[in-house]
Amino acid sequence: MLALLSALLVLLVWLARRFDADQIQTQVERDAQAAVSDIRLALSRNAQTLQALHNSEQPGATAWTASAARLLREQREWLRLEWRNPQLQTLAQADSPYQLPVFQRLGRANTQADVALACAAASRRTGPAYGPSYYVPLADGMGLEVMELCLPLLVASPKGTQISGYYIASYSLRQVLTEMVGKQLTRNQELSFTEADGARLAVIGSLERQSNAFTARQLLDLPGNTLVLRLQSWRGAPSLFPNVLTALVSALVVALLAVLVLLARDMRRRLKVEHELADALAFRKAMEDSLVTGLRARDLQGRITYVNPAFCQMVGFAPDELLGHSAPAPYWPPEFMGEYQQRQAVRLAGHAPPREGHESVFMRKDGSRFPVLIIEAPLINALGKQTGWMSAFLDISEQRRMEDLARATQERLQATARLATVGEMASLLSHELNQPLASIASYAHGAMNVLQPPALLASAAVDPDMSEALQVALRRIAQQAERAGKVIASVQDLVRRRERPRAAVAPPDLLATIMPLVSLQARKLRVRVQTDMPADLPPLWCDRTLVEQVLLNLARNAMQAMDEPAAYASRERVLGLAVAYQPLPSQARRPAQANSSAVAAPALLGWMVFAVSDTGPGIADAVASQLYTPFFTTKSEGMGLGLALCRSVVEQHGGALEFDSRPGLGTTFRFTLPVHAAGHLPIDLPAQLPPGAVNSVLTSG
Ligand code: ADP
Repeated sequence: MLALLSALLVLLVWLARRFDADQIQTQVERDAQAAVSDIRLALSRNAQTLQALHNSEQPGATAWTASAARLLREQREWLRLEWRNPQLQTLAQADSPYQLPVFQRLGRANTQADVALACAAASRRTGPAYGPSYYVPLADGMGLEVMELCLPLLVASPKGTQISGYYIASYSLRQVLTEMVGKQLTRNQELSFTEADGARLAVIGSLERQSNAFTARQLLDLPGNTLVLRLQSWRGAPSLFPNVLTALVSALVVALLAVLVLLARDMRRRLKVEHELADALAFRKAMEDSLVTGLRARDLQGRITYVNPAFCQMVGFAPDELLGHSAPAPYWPPEFMGEYQQRQAVRLAGHAPPREGHESVFMRKDGSRFPVLIIEAPLINALGKQTGWMSAFLDISEQRRMEDLARATQERLQATARLATVGEMASLLSHELNQPLASIASYAHGAMNVLQPPALLASAAVDPDMSEALQVALRRIAQQAERAGKVIASVQDLVRRRERPRAAVAPPDLLATIMPLVSLQARKLRVRVQTDMPADLPPLWCDRTLVEQVLLNLARNAMQAMDEPAAYASRERVLGLAVAYQPLPSQARRPAQANSSAVAAPALLGWMVFAVSDTGPGIADAVASQLYTPFFTTKSEGMGLGLALCRSVVEQHGGALEFDSRPGLGTTFRFTLPVHAAGHLPIDLPAQLPPGAVNSVLTSG
């Protein structure tokens, strides 16, 4: 670009110079032409003057000389006038008064040949003619270039026009130039007659020579002679900037170049700054995007002017939904709106927030609330003026969750400690109760022996029917006392985490054992018991006493839940007891993990599912979350241990306890127990236990 402009500038200057030179050259040519025509005009006028002399004068040498002298005074270019006869002999003559007679020194005869040439030409064309120029040296070492004009004097005669003589005018070429065109010459012009080879014959004009010469040649062809007129004009070298316009354009181009250079430099500097700025911006953006702290700026009117991606992610709103928003912000929970408005008003009034920040609750776009820690600071601009507020936000829900978890763990630890105490108490109690229970059993047996006939019959004091009834009652007392002993022993084992031997049990047996106790309570609470049990259920591998207690416990909870007089008075109270078998698909069957039980566990075939359902109010969410927490109860006389123990019994067996609550319709508790391959079971199916009623420490409420 720069090179192009420079080339353009040079070309412009060169063209301007060329143009200037052409102009001058044309001018010189024109001047030369004008000079030639001036000379030609003057020469012909001179010829006419001579002709006039011939026409007006009366022949007579004296008179002619006087007239010639007059003419010579007027025409300085003439050196001499002669009147010659047809043989070219001089009849009269007159010399210019402005010069010494030119031909005096060498004699006029010397020039006779030139005169003859001119007159020959003149007589040929019967009109004025010129002879070739010749050099006449003068006395002072200088010389003159002289040219002869011969005018034939014609007279009419009967034989035609006759030449009666000639007038000869000797021209000084130098004077011709001086007199005829000298006045138009300027100071730095030189006018000359030259020969064909360039030799100068006569020169006028200044020689104020300068560097550049412009030359023009013009031919002056006269009858009989042809001269070359040369006009030379000197000019100072056309200046580098030949005229104002070129100078102006050049100056503009130079200015343009300078501006371009400055612009390029400025552009480079600007690009560099832009690059640095882009780097800084990219760094800032990367920093903002990787921050986990939410950032928000507000102006002094409380409008949000900036939010970073972390903040948007935190509240779940897009930047567009937040920017420009003032109070109430879309992430303010409606229930805190008033409080937050007040807080913002305080902030906008210019009160600085606490430096350590404050906690608050925000609402996500989906409506969920979460706690945040807000640290606010005034936003100060480069001039030191406050333009708003800058806030940093930390989502502290995780922190809160950890705190809650720690608190729950703490509570569970306390509960466990209490549970341990209860365990101790239970084992103490069971130890203490074992003695009286054993005594009750042996007294019952003793009493039965006493009632044995014939002793009783012999006495005849007792009615035999009565004795029969007493015997049954006593047998049951003995059985239940033994059962109570077993329960106490199993509780003791459970508390001490001692593994109890397990055995294969048929599920109907489990239900049969608890049924008398369940029916007793069901009758009292007007609950209908509905059992659902397929015929060919495989036996279970379990600790029978404990599983019975689980069933009993769940059935009691269900019945107690339905005992809500007000809301459920009209509703039918149904306790559902169901057992179902879910075999595992054959490829999924695997030998159960060997555990520390006395008998190695056989291969797992499937799961026995027990379901205890009620038509009670269901379980509220608040209750459901703490259901298995020891000592949690909603009953005035409850202990809150029942479900916790049930779950630990089921899990100890490798099963799971879960519930399904339909608010207002009822609850179903379900637990599973593993079923193992029959071939591996010890054939130790116990006989059916007679129905009986034992209240154990396991049953709550
Ligand atoms: P307790 O019976 O001594 O209260 P549990 O651990 O057996 O202790 O039960 C804990 C709580 O679970 C009960 O207080 C009761 O609120 C609730 N609950 C248990 N079973 C049911 C049920 N079938 N329907 C409704 N609530 C139940």
